[in-house]
Amino acid sequence: MNEMILKFPARSENEVFARNAVAAFALPLNPSLTELSDVKTAVSEAVTNCIVHGYRGKAGWITITCRTVGCKLFVEIRDEGRGIEDIRQALQPFFTTLPSEERSGMGFTIMQTFMSDFSVESTVDAGTKVMMSKEFGIREQRDAG
Ligand code: ATP
Ligand code: MG
Repeated sequence: MNEMILKFPARSENEVFARNAVAAFALPLNPSLTELSDVKTAVSEAVTNCIVHGYRGKAGWITITCRTVGCKLFVEIRDEGRGIEDIRQALQPFFTTLPSEERSGMGFTIMQTFMSDFSVESTVDAGTKVMMSKEFGIREQRDAG
């Protein structure tokens, strides 16, 4: 088992850093390029949500906790922002509370698609935690062509 905790300000320039840090942490598990890119995409969506929705552009911290167990990567991404009132609704494809800002409401759907497991916990005015995991080395249909 290996572990890391990353804490950084909720600023959009940290999104690239965060997704690459998680990808670098996962490297010892020998993920394929596709798997690595899936992880980066999911992390990117979660971090963007913390910045855009959790803190709405205001200052705050984002905490990422990563663990590897066997060939599985666990990632937790947390903010202490506004929280989500109705999680079931938020998880619906195309649901967004910010339709005016080029948001398509697909972030959670993308995270679910690209990771093996996904769940979200949230408390209004306390924050949101997204938990995801991905097992590497599973032959995917996409790869099989
Ligand atoms: P897109 O991700 O396609 O740009 P989006 O961010 O609105 O659009 P999702 O990522 O699926 O879509 O999120 C759905 C909704 O869940 C958001 O519109 C927002 O209301 C809520 N939400 C998601 N993450 C958070 C968060 N960290 N804090 C507060 N609300 C959130
Ligand atoms: Mg989003």
